[in-house]
Amino acid sequence: MLRWIDVLTYAKYGNPEPLRRVVLSEAEWRYRLPLVCYEVMRNRSTEPPYRNAYCRSYEPGRYHCAGCGSLLFDSATKYHAISGWPSFTQPAARSAIRYAFDDSHHMQRMEAVCNVCEGHLGHVFPDGPAPAGLRYCINSVSLEQR
Ligand SMILES: [Zn+2]
Repeated sequence: MLRWIDVLTYAKYGNPEPLRRVVLSEAEWRYRLPLVCYEVMRNRSTEPPYRNAYCRSYEPGRYHCAGCGSLLFDSATKYHAISGWPSFTQPAARSAIRYAFDDSHHMQRMEAVCNVCEGHLGHVFPDGPAPAGLRYCINSVSLEQR
């Protein structure tokens, strides 16, 4: 089980190696992704709270990266965080997500990106439910449920 100390350690000293890498040019990403998805995943913007696909969806299944198809989350770890975005307590695997300190917008946050394609997913916070205490706050457009 991943804890906040693990997330901090990864961000500071290096993330786990991904199983594969998908590296495309910005022009290729622009061609491949719908515009709203491109804006979030490649320009680190944020979709509106509540008005997004998976915020209130609790259908069982797995959530894959909308950029590269990598498995990121399982619906078993999804919970209602009242944040307006889909929220999870754990990633599907330790190597699924890459963490980076993000001090944009005058906030100190921990950015969560896909470890395979480095697409922006959202942020992770240390205020999630026990036992791990993690809250992955993720943009719906960065996910694809299958
Ligand atoms: Zn990806």
